[in-house]
Amino acid sequence: MFKRYTEKAKKAIMIAQEEAINLNHDYIGTEQLTGIIKGLKLKIDPNSKIFSRCTLCNTLTKDIAKKEVKKYVPPHVFSTKTRFVYCASCKKYYWRGTHWQKMTQKIQKLSLNESGKHP
Ligand SMILES: [Zn+2]
Repeated sequence: MFKRYTEKAKKAIMIAQEEAINLNHDYIGTEQLTGIIKGLKLKIDPNSKIFSRCTLCNTLTKDIAKKEVKKYVPPHVFSTKTRFVYCASCKKYYWRGTHWQKMTQKIQKLSLNESGKHP
C-alpha cells in the first residue's frame, strides 16, 4: 500500500509517526497533522478533491450511480444521499455523511492560518 504514495506523502506520514511517538500517542491526531502541514508548507484547498482517494488503500475512487449501490449501503443512507463513490480495489462505498462533514470541518480549521483566515 505504501508504494502508492508520493515521496512527499511518505515523508508526511513519517513526520506524523515520529511526532505521535514523541507525544506518546498511539494515533496520528490533529497536533501531528498541524505539524505536517506547517513542516511541509502544505497548502490545503478544502474545495479541492481531498476526498478523492480510498481511506483504506489510497486508490482513486470512482463515481458510481445511485442505483448500483442500493444493496451495499444502509437503507437510510440510500434514501438520503444522492452521490456515491466506490473503491474498486477494496470494494468500499463512500458518501458524504457525518464523517465527511466532520473531516471537512477539521480540514478547514487546519488550513486556516493564525489570523483565522485562509492563506
Ligand atoms: Zn480502497
